Amino acid sequence: IQRIVIKVGTSTLTDENGQLDLQKMKKIVVEISNLQDKGFDVILVSSGAVGAGMGLLEIEERPKLLSEKQMLSAVGQVTLMQVYQTFFKKYDKLIGQLLLTKGEFSNRKRYLNVRNVCNAFLDKKIIPIINENDAIVSDELKVGDNDTMSALVSGLIDADLLIILSDIDGLYNKNPKKYEDANLIEVVGDINEDVKNMAGGKGSKFGTGGMITKIMAAEMATKIGTNLVIVNGDDPRNISRVVEKENIGTLFV
Ligand code: ADP
Repeated sequence: IQRIVIKVGTSTLTDENGQLDLQKMKKIVVEISNLQDKGFDVILVSSGAVGAGMGLLEIEERPKLLSEKQMLSAVGQVTLMQVYQTFFKKYDKLIGQLLLTKGEFSNRKRYLNVRNVCNAFLDKKIIPIINENDAIVSDELKVGDNDTMSALVSGLIDADLLIILSDIDGLYNKNPKKYEDANLIEVVGDINEDVKNMAGGKGSKFGTGGMITKIMAAEMATKIGTNLVIVNGDDPRNISRVVEKENIGTLFV
């Protein structure tokens, strides 16, 4: 059995108003269900809680106040999981929520514990949906972004492949939102300073990572033997395209 971690970012899950994009989520669920039916173990790392909370409370700007953001993430996390649960149920799939913090990866006892929990999920063919426990945890105890989280999770469960769905086709040699002549890079074998310099700062209004956190995630993942592909989440069928080894996105080996 091959183990695949799939990370979906805020920009993939929400529309331009920050509301959850249900059509998109449904398609992601179809992809994951199909992979599981084919015998893959699939773990989903999903953002979108704050966005969902903003939608529910009809708030248009990401709040600056930390406690307010944390409250929104707690409100939105419930909706996020509710949506996933409803969609996955149509494919007879059970899900469970795991809200993690940096502590799970820095404390050996907690690390081993959460690894056992993940494996218990997978043994029973239950899909773990992972997010940072934003509502509870203060900044210094956070992993900080779900790109890094997904790389840590890949190590935790010994994943063969990590697929990061983004709002862009992959890594370009420079930020394509600024430079029209930017070119997509198909394979990165060595994550050196040049590669890191290609990724600028934050991209979207609602996302928190940006391309640089994806490169750092790729560095972590490839070091422990997990290949990582950044691919456009606009079309969730890109997930199966990657698994079928179609040449799309940027592959880090
Ligand atoms: P997500 O919410 O999917 O995690 P982010 O907005 O955090 O996405 O990161 C993707 C964004 O990073 C792109 O939309 C783009 O604006 C920006 N970016 C900066 N440099 C690059 C680059 N070299 N190649 C691709 N994207 C880049």
